[in-house]
Amino acid sequence: MRELNSTSRQATALPPYATHPRAADAVIRIEHVTKVFRGRNHDTVTALEGVSLSVPYGEFVTVVGPSGCGKSTLLKMIAGLVPVSSGRIWYQDREVCELNTHVGYVPQESKLFPWLTLEENVAFGLEFRSFSRAEKARRVHYLIGLAGLTGFEQHYPAQLSGGMSKRASIIRALAYDPAVILMDEPFGPLDAQTRMILQDELLNIWERQRQTIVFVTHDLIEAVALADRVVVMGHRPGRIKEVITVPMSRPRNIFAIHRQAGFAEAHERLWNIFRHELNFITHRAGGESA
Ligand code: ADP
Ligand code: MG
Repeated sequence: MRELNSTSRQATALPPYATHPRAADAVIRIEHVTKVFRGRNHDTVTALEGVSLSVPYGEFVTVVGPSGCGKSTLLKMIAGLVPVSSGRIWYQDREVCELNTHVGYVPQESKLFPWLTLEENVAFGLEFRSFSRAEKARRVHYLIGLAGLTGFEQHYPAQLSGGMSKRASIIRALAYDPAVILMDEPFGPLDAQTRMILQDELLNIWERQRQTIVFVTHDLIEAVALADRVVVMGHRPGRIKEVITVPMSRPRNIFAIHRQAGFAEAHERLWNIFRHELNFITHRAGGESA
């Protein structure tokens, strides 16, 4: 897969925004970002406050935090779908000021296009890339095989199971061959077995391609099992509470992750931070209702 990646990454021309002096260190650089949403009645919600994070090339980062702490907003800002209120986000050496077409984004409620076949769905993003027709066909074929979907190329989404659709929406983002993939709780609605199979497949694909992945989840086991580092966010206004380095070696065995050296320590550390956060929320909810 190496040769698949190298050409497209270098061929991308970016608009002439400011250039970051230390772009080579990190593919994503979030600097003191705050996001305030304004409602119709001039009320405001501070979704994120003073968030800073650098993600090096090829890292698998997971982001966990309670519901409403700004995880989805953070991904949308990296994708350039939502502007920051203050602070800056850099992608490679350029500031993100508009839709960031260099990242693949799998939104929380990601769906396939129902009027396209599985194969057409996976090929969709490639229309915007300058690959030859043969190269496009090769990539689509390769990824469909990798995701275990061979034989279903001509099926429509309504004819696929939930797990198959989810797999297809993930390889649709991979086919586009971005250097960075943002995934927002991609396995959220799936049952436990399907989740594990997809986690395993995602890790297999990532081992081969080594794209940078920023993966939002509310599942602490998933967060540790997949990541090089886990970013732990706290409740509103969303802030980064801690960043945990996961010391487990790779490749990892998702199906026996509990037994792998380093898992228990990382999970316990994460759970301890989370427990404080949950206590805080419960305490505050109690206080508010009193
Ligand atoms: P998470 O993904 O961690 O559950 P979100 O990023 O979706 O959290 O939301 C963070 C906070 O920002 C929430 O309080 C949410 O209600 C608010 N929010 C998100 N998007 C908007 C929006 N477009 N307008 C107003 N408030 C929003
Ligand atoms: Mg969300």
